Amino acid sequence: MQIEALFAKILALHRGAENRLHQDTARAEVLFQTAPITALLEGVYDGDTTFADLAQHGDFGLGTFNALDGEMAAFDGRFYQITSDGRVHPVDPATRTPFAVVTFFDHDIQVDLDDPLDFEGLRARLDQAVTTPNVFYAVRIDGSFSYLKARSVPRQTPPYRPLVEVVEDQPTYEFHDLAGTLVGFRFPDYTAGINVPGYHLHFVSADRTVGGHLLECRTDRVRVAFDYTSNLRLELPGSAAFERADLAKDTRNAIRQVEQ
Ligand code: ZN
Repeated sequence: MQIEALFAKILALHRGAENRLHQDTARAEVLFQTAPITALLEGVYDGDTTFADLAQHGDFGLGTFNALDGEMAAFDGRFYQITSDGRVHPVDPATRTPFAVVTFFDHDIQVDLDDPLDFEGLRARLDQAVTTPNVFYAVRIDGSFSYLKARSVPRQTPPYRPLVEVVEDQPTYEFHDLAGTLVGFRFPDYTAGINVPGYHLHFVSADRTVGGHLLECRTDRVRVAFDYTSNLRLELPGSAAFERADLAKDTRNAIRQVEQ
C-alpha cells in the first residue's frame, strides 16, 4: 500500500513536470493574432481584445489600437503606443486592439550586422540568416541607426475609410543617429491576407520617446535575433463590422501601399 502510494505520487509529480514543460514549449512556439490583416485593410478598426488579454499570449509584438489610434510595439514585457505625432506612450491594459500579433520571444538565431544597410539591404541580410522562408519568425533588432524613417497612423472616426486611404496622408518622421529597438515579424509569402508577407517592423527609441512603423533606415551597428515559430493562433473578431467586411479581395497591392 505504501509502495503504491509512493508510485502514485511519483507519477503525479512526473505528469506535473511534463505538463509544465509542454505548456512552456507550447507558449513559446505560438504567434497569437487577433484578426487577419485583410480586416484592418478594409477598415475594421475596432476589436474586442484588451491589452490585458493580449499580454496573456505574448510579451513581444506589434499591432495597432481601436480607432487605429497609432502603432503598437511590445518587447521585454512592455507595451508601447506610438501616436500620430511619433511620440511613445505606455499602454493602459484596458485599451483594446483590432489587430495585434504577439508571442513570447525566444532567441533562436542571432546575427551582428556592423555595416551600413538600408531597409532593402537589411531585409536581404535577414533573409540570408533565417533557416527557411516557410515558417514564422519574430524578429528583434537592437542597435544604432544613422537614419530612420517611420510613420504612425492617426486616430480615425467612423465611418472608417480603408487603410490604403488613411495612409495616403500619414504623418512620417525622420531621425538621425539614434539608438533603439525594432520589433516585428517575418511572414511567408503564402500568408498574404492573414498577415504581411515579408518583414513588418515597428521602432521604439532607446530612451522610449519616439518611434513608429518602419519605412526606411540605414543601420550603424545592430544585433538581430530571430524566434523560429511554427504555430499561428488566429482569433477572429466577433464584431458586426468584421462579419460584414468584404475580405475576399487580393490584398497584395494594398499591403504594399500600406507598408511602404
Ligand atoms: Zn506597422
